[in-house]
Amino acid sequence: MLTLIQGRTYYLPGPVNIGVYLYPDGGAAIIDTGLDDESGRRVLKALREADALPLRTIINTHSHADHCGGNAFLQKRTEAVTWATPFEAAVIENPYLEPFYLSGGDPFPALRNKFLMAKPSRVDRRAQSENPELAPLQVVPLPGHTPEQIGILTPDGVLFCADAFFSCAILDKYYLPYFAQVRAALTTLEKLAGFQAAYYLPSHGELTADLPAVLAANRARLLAVSEYILTILEEPRSREDLVAIIATEKGMAFSPDQYFLSSAAVAGHLAYLAEEGLVRHYFSAGRMLWVRAESATTFAAGKRAVLPQGGA
Ligand SMILES: [Zn+2]
Repeated sequence: MLTLIQGRTYYLPGPVNIGVYLYPDGGAAIIDTGLDDESGRRVLKALREADALPLRTIINTHSHADHCGGNAFLQKRTEAVTWATPFEAAVIENPYLEPFYLSGGDPFPALRNKFLMAKPSRVDRRAQSENPELAPLQVVPLPGHTPEQIGILTPDGVLFCADAFFSCAILDKYYLPYFAQVRAALTTLEKLAGFQAAYYLPSHGELTADLPAVLAANRARLLAVSEYILTILEEPRSREDLVAIIATEKGMAFSPDQYFLSSAAVAGHLAYLAEEGLVRHYFSAGRMLWVRAESATTFAAGKRAVLPQGGA
């Protein structure tokens, strides 16, 4: 059942919250479609019960399977126009790319599952930062979790935030939340801290009107992981070593999906630290090793000085 947030803005609560906006002249837009056919079916049922059909617009915030896996079902049954940014659209239309990029090669059978590989679906329109045809909905770029993730702001002052941040409960459960790009994720957190919306809804978590605490927790975790990796890299280590050390010390248990998501998250931190000149790589006996650079000793103090000190 649709849950009212404010005005004409609703959502369908679930493991992945699905945003809903009811157009003043009839019909609905949805933000993300959930994991699979079943979530697509749930969307249609909820819209029918709310007398909100037809479904006119689907916006995918990003290409992860739990956000676009319901597209195929909905596209078969409605005339909805589907929107996503160009990078995310490439993956939505070619779902093989997700396990392919995570594993860095042809994914073995256990990686070809619906959590990493949605049914292929169409993206009709490429979302940009300005999209007059999406009005009154506005695209808000929120890169970091994925390279071209977006949020959607409705005229009721509700921002659907996708996976730009995770709830404190999720951070408690997962030490290494998935952010593909650490610097972009930090910038997005900073941008959200200065954003003026009445309500914020992350895809995984609760509706909130008060963001500072959760943004601060996400930022602190990103920096803590980078600092932790720098500590480990006092000794040279491969990326696999790093994943193993973090998993052991933080008590993380892996499925193939979680292993590769964690490994990609570590890659994001290594890229960030390398851009900052704090780590370097070299090859030894066929292994690629990372080690802390000399300049890294002042990382904690230096980063805190240049990152925003305000609400986030
Ligand atoms: Zn995601």
